[in-house]
Amino acid sequence: MSSLHKFFASIKRFYYLKILRRKYYRSGKCNCCGLCCEKIYVKHGKNIIKDEELFEKLKTMHSFYEDLEVVDKDDTGLVFRCNNLDLVTRKCKIHKHRVKICRNYPQEEIFMMGAQLSEECGYSFTPIVPFSEVFKKVLKSKNLNSDCKFFIE
Ligand code: SF4
Ligand code: SF4
Repeated sequence: MSSLHKFFASIKRFYYLKILRRKYYRSGKCNCCGLCCEKIYVKHGKNIIKDEELFEKLKTMHSFYEDLEVVDKDDTGLVFRCNNLDLVTRKCKIHKHRVKICRNYPQEEIFMMGAQLSEECGYSFTPIVPFSEVFKKVLKSKNLNSDCKFFIE
């Protein structure tokens, strides 16, 4: 990597970490597979919605909820599909007018909550600070060197 490239990389890293307070770089682009529009969990407060009656009450809070239909229930909670997804073309029927959460998807916040991107998704997240760097810092703070071995009982 040239020194100019390194310089711009360090500026970018500083901007993401310190100004935007991000932990991941997002890369890639949407390939319009539509998968994120047909397996949706809804979070209310700290919990994922598991109860249809509660969801009916929440519908009045956000117009986007009106477009969601329960299609399944699993260990995590109710699974919704958005009715704006065209099941044939896999495209959003209201693409130009879709809500902010859809425009920004996938955000780091969703990713940090434990949500996973499908394997087909064109986006990916990479830690801004690589694990090896975090690991070195921990070793340094504990006065250990990288030859140390850890045993888990
Ligand atoms: S509004 Fe469009 S982009 Fe948003 S979840 Fe529904 S189909 Fe997907
Ligand atoms: S899962 Fe990823 S690639 Fe597929 S529609 Fe959603 S954002 Fe786009």
